[in-house]
Amino acid sequence: TRDDVPPVEVESVSVAFGAIKALNDVSFTVAPGSIHAVIGPNGAGKSTLFNVLSGVYRATEGEVRFGDAVLSAMRPFQIAGVGVARAFQNIALSGAQTVAENLMLGRHHLTKAGFLSSGLRLPRATREGKVHGERIREIAEFLDLGDKLHTPVGVLSYGDQKRVEVARALCIEPRLLLLDEPVAGMNAQETARMADAIREIRSALGITVVLVEHDMGMVMSLADRVTVLDFGRRIADGTPAQVQSDPEVIRAYLGS
Ligand code: ADP
Ligand code: MG
Repeated sequence: TRDDVPPVEVESVSVAFGAIKALNDVSFTVAPGSIHAVIGPNGAGKSTLFNVLSGVYRATEGEVRFGDAVLSAMRPFQIAGVGVARAFQNIALSGAQTVAENLMLGRHHLTKAGFLSSGLRLPRATREGKVHGERIREIAEFLDLGDKLHTPVGVLSYGDQKRVEVARALCIEPRLLLLDEPVAGMNAQETARMADAIREIRSALGITVVLVEHDMGMVMSLADRVTVLDFGRRIADGTPAQVQSDPEVIRAYLGS
């Protein structure tokens, strides 16, 4: 594990869209180096929570902290600057460009002076002056994409494209990785491969992973801890076994 990864503290966060409370007084803590899943039926507030964590939405009330950084008061580029990366639910890659080119784009702001002065502790590889191309190859190999570096993203299988999206997020050398429905639309084999990659990101790189997922089954073998949302409220928080047997969770899922 790494000593530079603080916990994520979500404290009494509410988000209102007019009369709708998409999040209502939600609190939970993500332990450093853990895989933490946020699950819930459609409309529970999962994507809204992700948008708060990544600076896309402002919390109406409450606060999100990552060590000294108050994420809920920061803009998206500042959040990236403290080492928080997000992979999107809907693939946001440039299909005509190769895997390597897409990863180079993800790497781009590591070279910007503003980003370097933002307080992020760069990983040893970068401090030692390892060239970006070399690091991109390592990240691609890590996600089983080493032989596809020069393939246009648009011709890859869906599962490969989703792993390129994760690889691109890793290119900012994050301490915290946010994954919005990483296995949505995947077949069983692609899902297993993504789950393996997520375990490796945590164990080999020491990165904290927060993932949002609709399907309860997928997170049960993967997550250390699970927070369950329903209609914007936190209805359960615990180990997979604990939340799986929680009557309120069962009720929320049966009703959806
Ligand atoms: P989930 O990702 O769990 O399916 P969302 O966070 O997308 O849930 O949505 C939670 C609630 O907030 C829903 O009722 C949704 O309609 C509402 N909502 C989400 N985003 C907006 C928005 N930008 N404007 C208005 N309502 C929104
Ligand atoms: Mg959603």
